[in-house]
Amino acid sequence: MNIIYRSTRNHQHTATASEAVLRGLAPDGGLYVPDRLTAIDTDFTALAEMSYQELAFEVLSKLLTDYTEAELKYCIASAYDEKFDTDEIVPMTKVDGAYHLELFHGPTIAFKDMALSILPYLMTTAAKKQGMDRDIVILTATSGDTGKAAMAGFADVEHTKIIVFYPKDGVSVIQEQQMLTQTGANTYVVGIHGNFDDAQTGVKKLFADQALAGELEAAGLQFSSANSINIGRLAPQIVYYVYGYCRLVKRGVIKAGDRINVCVPTGNFGNILAAWYAKGMGLPIAKCICASNENKVLFDFFTTGVYDRNRDFVLTTSPSMDILISSNLERLIYAAAGQDSTVCAGLMKELQEQGVYSVSEQLKSGLHDFIGGYATEIETINRIREVYEQEGYVMDTHTAVASQVYHKYRTDSGDETVTLLASTASPYKFVKTVVSAIAPEERQKNEFRLLDILEKLSGVPQPAAVRGLETAQILHQRICRADQMKLTVQQILGLDQMGER
Ligand SMILES: *Cc1c(COP(=O)(O)O)cnc(C)c1O
Repeated sequence: MNIIYRSTRNHQHTATASEAVLRGLAPDGGLYVPDRLTAIDTDFTALAEMSYQELAFEVLSKLLTDYTEAELKYCIASAYDEKFDTDEIVPMTKVDGAYHLELFHGPTIAFKDMALSILPYLMTTAAKKQGMDRDIVILTATSGDTGKAAMAGFADVEHTKIIVFYPKDGVSVIQEQQMLTQTGANTYVVGIHGNFDDAQTGVKKLFADQALAGELEAAGLQFSSANSINIGRLAPQIVYYVYGYCRLVKRGVIKAGDRINVCVPTGNFGNILAAWYAKGMGLPIAKCICASNENKVLFDFFTTGVYDRNRDFVLTTSPSMDILISSNLERLIYAAAGQDSTVCAGLMKELQEQGVYSVSEQLKSGLHDFIGGYATEIETINRIREVYEQEGYVMDTHTAVASQVYHKYRTDSGDETVTLLASTASPYKFVKTVVSAIAPEERQKNEFRLLDILEKLSGVPQPAAVRGLETAQILHQRICRADQMKLTVQQILGLDQMGER
């Protein structure tokens, strides 16, 4: 049975899974959603015997239905291999009563690797299926994590190139070094004089530039996006919730069929939506606890039914969650509106024009699986220290937001349901804040020295992603102004030599 993907803004716009993966966004600006969710096999005792890769096939074959078995298995095998530093791919650790799913054992030590290691294969396979003979050029603006994870995913993947723009003075020392040392003959990194918004706006303009699209076509190329709204990023994230549940069964923490809660540090709403889709596919989940930092738009939304982005943007120590427009929430709105694309499109228009919308009581009742919570900056830092002092376990700042929200929810509600907590980054990635929390006397040191200090304090060896990073060869040196992004892309792709101007 083939699943059809429909736009959240006009259900007449349809696509197969592979078309949706290639396009990213629907032509009307909506997001592709599956017209239904097919149940997975719910013999969790049997599923618990599967490897991560086998389970990934079980789940993805229910969603990406126009890929053949051989195609999906090829994509899965290419993605989840020794790029991950553990055979389990996603280890689970019990920390202060919650079961942390460690989603950061991939090449760039953040959970983005879970989806971005498979997306390039899903995309090139889709291109082949559609008989597309042009090479794919991925354009991405990044505030630090996504760009590196996308490059690591696409590096040396045939028939692709990737160009990443980042704000030259807006990322951490470690993040910049990670990007500038990226290998792969098809990867390009450009620092821009400007902030993340300038980079993002510039990339959107390039996507919309018809003249540029013509030049690309003439050169046998086509733009695509690795953005988190791509269904090819969402679907692979469903897998690890099923995997985590099976590990709980296998360890005897729960019986097959028991309900669990999940708690997810949230920004663009992709990760937690994947958990909810897992529930829709038959995974016994009771509550999805949505954890925000001080940019608590989602907490306010789940509490009041009003989504209001008209507020100050707070720069926090969990930067990957510093977001006021959570794009993937649109998919939940669409579902809660009873798959009514007219209602959804109306609300999204209000958001675009006024920055705010309010949902009906009926729609709000469709959100009952979600509980919002948030953690302040001080609470987050205190949480990292408390858990370290109690258990010797060091969390990253994003995970700490979720840990704090979970702790407070459990205390306030008395809900003792076994909880899977999405642990989204290695503490090494945010070493400065983490060391400041657990050993404040060291915090003035250079970030690379702090890596050694964290290794001593945590007893966890430095991951390959940061080992040798300080002395790794710098392979990228391009810098441009925000208004030179088009010219830079033309130069990188050799379009300027084709006599266009
Ligand atoms: C991207 C990211 C998040 C937020 O995930 P969403 O899917 O955007 O909600 C949380 N933590 C880390 C470390 C991230 O990189």
